[in-house]
Amino acid sequence: MTLPVLIIGGGIAGLTTAVALQHFKIDFRVLEAVPEIKGVGAGISLAGNAMRVMHQLGLAETIKAEGHPISAMVIQDENGKTISVMDAGKLSREHGLDNVAIHRGALHQILVQALPPEKILTQHKAIDIQEYPTHVEIVLQNGNRVSAACALVADGIHSVIRKKLLPLAQIRYSGYTCWRGIVTNTWGIENAAYETWGPAGRFGYVPVGGNKIYWFACKNAPAKSEAMQRMTIKQLADNFSKYFHPIPEIISQTPASELIWSDIIDLKPISKYAFGKAVLLGDAAHATTPNMGQGACMGIEDAWLIARLLHQHTQTETAFNLFETQRLPRTHYIVNTSYQLGKVAQWENQLLAKLRNCALRLMPASVNEKQVVKLLDIEVG
Ligand SMILES: Cc1cc2nc3c(=O)[nH]c(=O)nc-3n(C[C@H](O)[C@H](O)[C@H](O)COP(=O)(O)OP(=O)(O)OC[C@H]3O[C@@H](n4cnc5c(N)ncnc54)[C@H](O)[C@@H]3O)c2cc1C
Repeated sequence: MTLPVLIIGGGIAGLTTAVALQHFKIDFRVLEAVPEIKGVGAGISLAGNAMRVMHQLGLAETIKAEGHPISAMVIQDENGKTISVMDAGKLSREHGLDNVAIHRGALHQILVQALPPEKILTQHKAIDIQEYPTHVEIVLQNGNRVSAACALVADGIHSVIRKKLLPLAQIRYSGYTCWRGIVTNTWGIENAAYETWGPAGRFGYVPVGGNKIYWFACKNAPAKSEAMQRMTIKQLADNFSKYFHPIPEIISQTPASELIWSDIIDLKPISKYAFGKAVLLGDAAHATTPNMGQGACMGIEDAWLIARLLHQHTQTETAFNLFETQRLPRTHYIVNTSYQLGKVAQWENQLLAKLRNCALRLMPASVNEKQVVKLLDIEVG
């Protein structure tokens, strides 16, 4: 009997990998630690590269219907004065690069519904992996073992399995902490994704479909600050009270139950993703700060590539080594660029911030657009 491919983790990377394996008719199982798979963490935007993969997997139209297309990405200062605008509609029309914002719960549901339920094994927390000449065994927290042809490890930034394979990998704190929320769109905000850079912190908002807005707020703070963790909606709205309309109201109208807090962290780039019959994918391999909106998009790119390589190569190790060679440079670039970008976007020094905003205002839109197209215009044929 041929053993299935095992995916550890049913997040966006793991579930998309499952859909991609299904696309290539490769048998798989997903092991997920929690009892029920659902998207945690408000909204998410999927850029053109991820949407190309979703198109190949037959899910792009559903994602567009459930989410909200983004036609522009606007950066403003705290008074609402524009710093830069990216015409996302043009990227879609001229390069076929669609950008969609969607509630995470909706995205997870679309992915889960594309898969046979019996192939997703919830309450299966992996704690170790053992490799044999012909297969791997995953040790579960309950003491059971699951055998597989190979393991695709997508259990997130705090990956238990990565810690076994690469114990010295380091999580980095970015220097800023983040709140996220979902609120009903009573302001008629349409199509664009907005980000405001100002002295009280960074604030972003975007419609995600279902007449809802997803927002995030980032503030410089020490790591794991209890004061930040305890921050209420009212305190957060007060923090941004001098920012232009409707920012303070977006915060104050958000139900407290919708507020999510977490420090922004990433995984310091690691030099290895392939370990014999196991390979790291998604945040387990290359968790990034969210400044380029590319964390999940990279996991989605991984999903397509690993499935295609497993389809093309009978030797698992060959597929995994090729995956590592192709993914290391691109994912390292994203992680490092995003880390630096976040530092600049979070500048509190007024003079530096003014200089930064001036420089960005002077940059021709075409230069910015070229860089974005270069980043997103991937081949998925
Ligand atoms: C504030 C913020 C905003 C972001 N915005 C964007 C954005 O707009 N666009 C974008 O592309 N990315 C964005 N990201 C990044 C994105 O959220 C992540 O890159 C993505 O969710 C990672 O998916 P994953 O499947 O690799 O990991 P995860 O989402 O962490 O999923 C891992 C899964 O594995 C399971 N698991 C964990 N341990 C085990 C175990 N031992 N055994 C079995 N299962 C296990 C978990 O329960 C979970 O379901 C953002 C991140 C943050 C913090």
